[in-house]
Amino acid sequence: MEGHDWIEYDKAIEEMRQREYPMLQGTTYLDHAGTTLYAKSLIERFSKDLISNLYGNPHSASNASQLTTRRIEDIRLRLLEMFNADPEEFDVVFVANATAGIKLVMDAFRDNKGGFWYGYHRDAHTSVIGMREAAARHQCFTSDAEVEQWIDQPITEPSSLRLFAYPAQSNMNGRRLPLCWPRRIRSAKRDAVYTLLDAAALVSTSPLDLGDAGTAPDFIVLSLYKIFGFPDLGALIIRRASSSVFDRRQYFGGGTVEMVVCLKEQWHAKKSESLHERLEDGTLPIHSIMALDFAMKVHHELFGSPEKISRHTTFLAARLYKDLSSLQHGNREYVCQMYKDPASRYGDSTTQGPIVAFNVRNPNGGWVSNAEIEKIAAVKSLQFRTGGLCNPGGIAYSLNLAPWEMRENFSAGQRCGNDNDIIRSKPTGMIRVSLGAMSTVKDVTSFVAFIREFFVHDAPLNAVPQTPHRSTVPPTENILHVESLSIYPIKSCAAFSVPPGKAWEVRQEGLAWDREWCLIHQGTGAALSQKRYPKMALIRPSLDLEHGLLRVQLAGALRGTTQTNEVTVPLSADPRMFSDNSIYKDTAAKVCGDLIQARTYKSAEISMFFTQALGVACHLARFPAVGSRTSSMTSSRHLKAHLQSYRKSDNMHIPGAFPDARTLAPGCVVSRPLLLSNESPILTISRSSLNRLNELIKAEGGKAAQAEVFRANIVVAQNLDYPPGAEEPYAEDDWRYLQIGQQYFEMLGPCRRCQMVCVDQHTAERNQEPFVTLSKTRRFDGRVYFGQHTCHVPMQDATSLSVQNPTIMVGDRVRSFREDDLDQDVHLQSLVG
Ligand SMILES: *Cc1c(COP(=O)(O)O)cnc(C)c1O
Repeated sequence: MEGHDWIEYDKAIEEMRQREYPMLQGTTYLDHAGTTLYAKSLIERFSKDLISNLYGNPHSASNASQLTTRRIEDIRLRLLEMFNADPEEFDVVFVANATAGIKLVMDAFRDNKGGFWYGYHRDAHTSVIGMREAAARHQCFTSDAEVEQWIDQPITEPSSLRLFAYPAQSNMNGRRLPLCWPRRIRSAKRDAVYTLLDAAALVSTSPLDLGDAGTAPDFIVLSLYKIFGFPDLGALIIRRASSSVFDRRQYFGGGTVEMVVCLKEQWHAKKSESLHERLEDGTLPIHSIMALDFAMKVHHELFGSPEKISRHTTFLAARLYKDLSSLQHGNREYVCQMYKDPASRYGDSTTQGPIVAFNVRNPNGGWVSNAEIEKIAAVKSLQFRTGGLCNPGGIAYSLNLAPWEMRENFSAGQRCGNDNDIIRSKPTGMIRVSLGAMSTVKDVTSFVAFIREFFVHDAPLNAVPQTPHRSTVPPTENILHVESLSIYPIKSCAAFSVPPGKAWEVRQEGLAWDREWCLIHQGTGAALSQKRYPKMALIRPSLDLEHGLLRVQLAGALRGTTQTNEVTVPLSADPRMFSDNSIYKDTAAKVCGDLIQARTYKSAEISMFFTQALGVACHLARFPAVGSRTSSMTSSRHLKAHLQSYRKSDNMHIPGAFPDARTLAPGCVVSRPLLLSNESPILTISRSSLNRLNELIKAEGGKAAQAEVFRANIVVAQNLDYPPGAEEPYAEDDWRYLQIGQQYFEMLGPCRRCQMVCVDQHTAERNQEPFVTLSKTRRFDGRVYFGQHTCHVPMQDATSLSVQNPTIMVGDRVRSFREDDLDQDVHLQSLVG
């Protein structure tokens, strides 16, 4: 395509997208080759067809059944035509997905009496690698050169059955592999080795020509949804000349046999008419196949030929690759580590597909966590894949991970899809951006702008939060007070504000009644959170201590969703109220990955209330009282107890402690553990810091954040009479202890943030702020922090009332102690430790 034509085409796609892909509104979609998106007119035409025609199960003589059979035969033919495959030479078998096609081939090879040899290329998808487990012998080819060398070697054991499999395009970095291998293997090995081409990634943005059956692979698998977005269907294309392999397959299912004898004798006759009839076990997904017909037509109408899609996406990918690989930090260090195969070239569609894989580095050369990048992307409505990408060989090769490292990473807790993605200063996965037929230059520029906005820095980073500017006023001066106290009686629901003048009990595990309850999913037993159910913000619990009740009301959009607008639950944990937990006996509720044994309320009215409000089947559950726990593992406050044990242990060094494991004078040693969970006894935030954050948000035209989004228990603010303009934002980064009224608290470390802070606590709507600004101004070590985990420090002397029954109150004065204040404060040292 010439420059001008190309601009026209891109413009046409952009316009068509508005009409056909309304679900893309406001989103930059760069996932699954960008093509798991179906066009509106495809769904409309398909649904019209379903409403007007009666399609019966193909295995009968009725008109409806005959109509189905006829249509399916036509569609089979059209699918073959798409690949220029002659129906005399090829047959197509409908399967659920590409993986099912691979398994069908495996069935036939596995049932061979002498087993089979299996060779596969390093760049293969997990679904292709999995077949090795059925093989008697297998070999992973770690480079193209190894494959070529093997092709030229004569076969020494002539009798055994052999299969070589490889992807036409790597689903990891889009590299396209030579399509000449099947021809070369067939001629060099004299038909002794079959070939399986995994074309699932290739054909979504490229034509595949099976015009010459003599040089074509024996088996080709595809994911049709990766081309058309819909239907969810796969296909296995078989070269008829190689179909005898399937005679070995032992299994037969409904629809694949002519006759089965099973009472006194065991005998069956397989269908012989056509190959696909013998291999399509059970009822075909007939409606999906009907939809495929419309998919092929609509796709062609919208995008033109596969060649056109290929040129368009090739151009876009070349631009994306160029832009990302040239990004530099202020100190000239490159931002993106690209994972292009040396054998491929962007802009050349025979060697490279429209996928770009990379990792991000900070100006100091360190890796940026992909999990953190994804969190920011989620807020900015960008969608792409990160992690291991179902391509273990490609990942290990590109990231230079040795098998022992992968095993060790596994032992260290790395799993596909978790946050733990940089281990021993190496990334364990990558970012993959895929372009598809409906991608446009705007997607490319939006993505590059996103990386530039958040990950390109003018100056090298400080590893720890910047030391706040030291005020001349001594820190121990009485300049702070408690602005508000909040309790979250039901985890992830709205806050209850402690009324001014009310002395609130502080327990070792936190403020009284905080996170005493949670909602758990009736199916999985997992605790619900605002991340998935933002409407939980509109569930408003309040504590009626006078009547001994927890009252729960609904606000905003949730009002009117339930029969009653309030439920009440006694604060006393009367055992008769709880079900015997028969459903969850073995499946303790999961809170932030920790197993806890919460007891569920058996009242149908209570469950109904929450279920109707949120539209998800759930129960209210209560954590066991702290005093009655049998083991810390089953306690609600497992983590809280955990923190206490860190605090009590002397000189304990926790690796990765943030910002550093600081040691105090002997006897009051505290490490600051890096908390992976959002649970801690108490969360404290500072009004000055929030003000500073909001100034920055407003300067960019954003919406200021409410204090509630941080789900803090204690908001500490500077006194009004303190000179204006002399606020100390982020002074809390340096605090070690706080004295609030008569009580002492210890700061345990900064609180790590995710996109949950973007849920507006009054409307339950998701915003971009404050996470976007936080990730620009409060990202250290690749992680975003705001607020401080805090716990109460009980005093040694147990004679006074303030020790036996510790309380704090709104308006209490607050003194902060920094590291360097501690030496002078003998009083505090005698209290803790
Ligand atoms: C997506 C993909 C698969 C798996 O396809 P499914 O349809 O999910 O089974 C296999 N190989 C490659 C190269 C892919 O891109």
